[in-house]
Amino acid sequence: MNCPYCKNEMEKGLIHSPHELNFIKGEKRKFMTASFLHDDSVVLSKLSYLKGSATIAYNCPECEIIIIDYKNGKNDLNNK
Ligand SMILES: [Zn+2]
Repeated sequence: MNCPYCKNEMEKGLIHSPHELNFIKGEKRKFMTASFLHDDSVVLSKLSYLKGSATIAYNCPECEIIIIDYKNGKNDLNNK
């Protein structure tokens, strides 16, 4: 994947967490972040008690931008 800003090749990797990874709209920090508490949240990776959670991401160190393709990332990671 190429960076949409500088067009350089991006580094493929994983974002890991010991908790569920999710996106919640807005800029206000939340104390309780479980997706079932937020109707409009996007779950990037469900929690596995053995492996934690992880999602594929692409990093551009030049622009300091990380892109998460959560549609295709879930499928790629489930096959590993
Ligand atoms: Zn870039």
